[in-house]
Amino acid sequence: MPDHPVRLLLVEDDPVQARLIERLLDGSSAPRFEVLGASDLSEGLQRLSTDGIDIVLLDLVLPDSEGLETFGRVKARAGDKPIVILTGVDDVQLAARAVEGGAQDYLVKTRLDPDRLIRSLRYALERVRARSAEWDSPMFRLAQQQFLKAAQLMGLDDNIRQRLLFPQRSLLVSFPFRRDDHDQVENVFGYRVQHVLTMGPTKGGIRYAPDVNLGEVSALAMWMTWKCALMHLPFGGAKGGVRVDPTALSRTEVQRLTRRYTAEIVGMIGPDRDIPAPDMGTDEQVMAWVMDTYSQQVGHGVPTVVTGKPVVLGGSLGRREATGRGLIYVVEDAARRMGISLHGATGVVQGFGNVGSAAARYLAEDGVRVVGVSDASGAIHDPRGIDVEAAAAWVAEHGLLEGYPEGDRLTNRELLELKCDVLAPCALQNQVTAENANRIRCRILAEGANGPTTLEADDVLADNGVTILPDILANAGGVTVSYFEWVQGTQNYTWSLEEINARLRSVLSGAFQRVSARAETDGIDMRTAALVEGIARVTEAKLKRGVFP
Ligand code: NAD
Repeated sequence: MPDHPVRLLLVEDDPVQARLIERLLDGSSAPRFEVLGASDLSEGLQRLSTDGIDIVLLDLVLPDSEGLETFGRVKARAGDKPIVILTGVDDVQLAARAVEGGAQDYLVKTRLDPDRLIRSLRYALERVRARSAEWDSPMFRLAQQQFLKAAQLMGLDDNIRQRLLFPQRSLLVSFPFRRDDHDQVENVFGYRVQHVLTMGPTKGGIRYAPDVNLGEVSALAMWMTWKCALMHLPFGGAKGGVRVDPTALSRTEVQRLTRRYTAEIVGMIGPDRDIPAPDMGTDEQVMAWVMDTYSQQVGHGVPTVVTGKPVVLGGSLGRREATGRGLIYVVEDAARRMGISLHGATGVVQGFGNVGSAAARYLAEDGVRVVGVSDASGAIHDPRGIDVEAAAAWVAEHGLLEGYPEGDRLTNRELLELKCDVLAPCALQNQVTAENANRIRCRILAEGANGPTTLEADDVLADNGVTILPDILANAGGVTVSYFEWVQGTQNYTWSLEEINARLRSVLSGAFQRVSARAETDGIDMRTAALVEGIARVTEAKLKRGVFP
């Protein structure tokens, strides 16, 4: 915290309330506050422009503006400066909406005491500072806002809420690897983040992508925590990544990069510690190199240090296609509940990698006419239905869908807007946003990718009657079979594919039932219900374990 006092703009029209807050802040020494008052919105905006404000404490109901309008105008002027909302008990719902829109926190006026007030302001300042440095990423903001929305709904204990907002451990490494010509040495950034260490070892994939950063990896680690808890798996969430474009590297270069990255994070991973798996840009072969490098370092073979490895090295049957298969199991459950027959329904899949290609295949097996598929090279549309096996064979041979002779070409944006029963985004984050949500015309949005839908888009889709099967439920098939792989590895006993698929269906259906029941009982959407289920389990475990020391 800075030595100079924090300049706090208090926008509050009730002079009694304003004096009370000033008195409460008077006793704060770390940080010290200098309070500047404004009794209406126009004065507040004026002071924000001219007075070097560090943080805003904002009453939403003012003489010249009300509700989210007040927040929107202050936010537009405040930019990245933190805003904490002051609210009456009756307006808590409104305050929560402001938090979804980017406010850091909200405080209920009748429950104000110095500790609560000062801590909320201090954390808001620290969070913004952390975000504006390493964690700054839209994906991390989305993960935190989703969490805060669910936490507000649950009335989550403030101590727990603050503990879960940031990952427990983060490692950032910068390391070299040699290009094939042996003259060039590239230097890249790598990450490994463990969000919650309470539930058992941590678990999460490794992503190779050109724009990966600490914020993105942290968001993915947080989602892994909720996903594992929702599935009742004995893991906390983790994730790793290297900021590199793997499509621009040869396989030997990817191998050298992988081995060096593994050596850099070797102290953090282990079969009882943290267990990586594939994610975007990585596959079974990459997992084999991670396992081999780890085993070389510790002096004996340790297959259980990774999951999603080749079957011959102790990988599980069914792991490769587990995320896509699981996605379709959840779609089947949802369709049954909604009274939709999948036979003869239409489907669209964005992304044709590990998750997307399997999802398209299993949709087709269920009798769904897959009218659109896409990858990084663009999209194909064929209202008569795409031959998914032929498209997969083309990609196996050519690397991308580009040049596939059937159907019409569309952009990825246009693909998402095709009318269909089931839309499965299985590529990147941030695909369905406030900008295009109104043009999405599916009945079920099944999130194969992590974080494909923004919070604003969630609201628009809900208004338009779209059922969202949220990522932490819909794409949990991968981590579930990873868990089966880890169990088989630790027992040195393998299961049949039938056994694995039956167990997968049972785990996912159990989670689907819990989420649907929660959504119905609490009158909330499926995403929030899934988050609440996951967060509640982690909270219970944290409370049982207590705080060390
Ligand atoms: P992958 O690398 O195997 O495939 C990614 C696919 O997305 C490729 O077809 C690629 O061409 C396509 N793509 C890239 N940029 C695109 C763009 N701009 N528009 C459209 N398509 C684009 O990755 P994956 O393992 O299938 O992962 C996809 C998503 O699923 C990620 O969000 C990942 O986090 C999530 N996920 C994966 C698993 C798993 O087991 N692999 C598990 C859970 C969630």
